[in-house]
Amino acid sequence: MSRFFSDRFASLTAYVPGEQPQDQQYVKLNTNESPYPPSPRTRSAVSDAELARLNLYPDPTGMRLRNTLAAHYGVKPTNVLLANGSDEILSFAFMAFCDAQTPAVFPDISYGFYPVYAALYGVGANIIPLREDFSMDVDALCAAPGMCVLANPNAPTGMALPRAAIERILLSNPNRVVLVDEAYVDFGAETALPLLAEHDNLLIARTYSKSRSMAGARLGFAFGSEALIADLETIRFSTNPYNLNRLTLLLGEAAVVDDAYYAQNCKRIAATRESAAARLTSLGFTLTESKANFLFARHPAIPGEALYSGLKARGVLVRHFNKPRIAEYVRITIGTPEQMDVLYAAIEDILKGGAPCAKQP
Ligand SMILES: *Cc1c(COP(=O)(O)O)cnc(C)c1O
Repeated sequence: MSRFFSDRFASLTAYVPGEQPQDQQYVKLNTNESPYPPSPRTRSAVSDAELARLNLYPDPTGMRLRNTLAAHYGVKPTNVLLANGSDEILSFAFMAFCDAQTPAVFPDISYGFYPVYAALYGVGANIIPLREDFSMDVDALCAAPGMCVLANPNAPTGMALPRAAIERILLSNPNRVVLVDEAYVDFGAETALPLLAEHDNLLIARTYSKSRSMAGARLGFAFGSEALIADLETIRFSTNPYNLNRLTLLLGEAAVVDDAYYAQNCKRIAATRESAAARLTSLGFTLTESKANFLFARHPAIPGEALYSGLKARGVLVRHFNKPRIAEYVRITIGTPEQMDVLYAAIEDILKGGAPCAKQP
């Protein structure tokens, strides 16, 4: 730390993203990206003529993409916010709706960025433990004051709440924001979107990073009441009005047009998830019931850390969180069936007590 760093951040612990090795030597099942490429239309959306216009700033309102998303999801453009990944949506929401008197309320086991934003913005974190089986304590969430932040499905468990539970939390206190982070909703959970018209305290965060194969483009969006979105626009225009570059805006539109392609991929991934769950269960693993594009698994014979490093030595990257309650687990992103076969072979080798052989290509 330099002597110039503000005291405000002296004890800030930054978010640590999953490993992003820049060579191709791993089967990469560690950061919940799609194993499938963006659709053909998305890949041809950026023409040479568009590249030649990079001398010009993008539309700071992102109106074309907001109109496209609004029409696709049946809301008004004024109900849609665009951001540089859904992480930026979260950042804006913590900045806009939390303060010293209004903490953020979130589960002890959830997305690792929530406590980081709470610390960054100097707001309280009102942490509600998940139950023993990792299910949400909805009553406790209803009773806790502050902006409620829920990933649904939750990460890293993949477990989902029904819409009725979200509605109960919304109704428990209409005078606080409930932020539902739907990063993984397209893989089989219920969206809170139909609740939007009736609940002006609902904010839904979505991303192109998981189901739409565009983690590298950095595009997130949110749905909320007109007033909530206007507040977030005030924060956005006070931070970076050009938070979305021209190319990403174009990619975003093309991906909505190609929705059927992405919906098909989600189906394939959900089917692979179900067969992977069965296979891992037969290998002795215990799993949470995931509705996302990953599984959360522990094996009685191998500690989580050893499983992570044993797999890495065999060319397969998964995610391990060295945290209370979940240190025995690994989170495994659902890859293609071929990638999953490499995973099963590596696990079988570890279970046999084999020494790691040469890494898989
Ligand atoms: C991946 C993820 C995000 C962030 O996605 P980006 O749009 O890539 O910033 C947000 N929330 C959860 C729960 C995630 O897993």
